[in-house]
Amino acid sequence: MKCTHCNMGEYQKKKVPYTFLGEHIGTFEGLICTHCGETLFESASSDLIEKKVREKGLWGLRARSKISEVGNGLDVRIPKPLAQFLSLKKGKEIIIEPIDRNQLKIIIE
Ligand SMILES: [Zn+2]
Repeated sequence: MKCTHCNMGEYQKKKVPYTFLGEHIGTFEGLICTHCGETLFESASSDLIEKKVREKGLWGLRARSKISEVGNGLDVRIPKPLAQFLSLKKGKEIIIEPIDRNQLKIIIE
């Protein structure tokens, strides 16, 4: 099967290590392009990856939140599962930095 990404290489079955949010999830059978390295996982592997990611409590950390007004500034509400994943606690010092006009990066010291 030709690679859908570069349209030059062919996919080869290989065991590939999978990392999610910086954590090693495991090694799964995937299809790797011989030219550009594009990796695809077929449904059996995808299901297994999702299961492991859920088991590690890493699923669904991307969430909607709202900005509220506090004093002269604005507060961002961080949902509890995300706060737990990042070990954030009240009073913790952070650095906030705009990436562009649509993205904000929070660096935990
Ligand atoms: Zn390719």
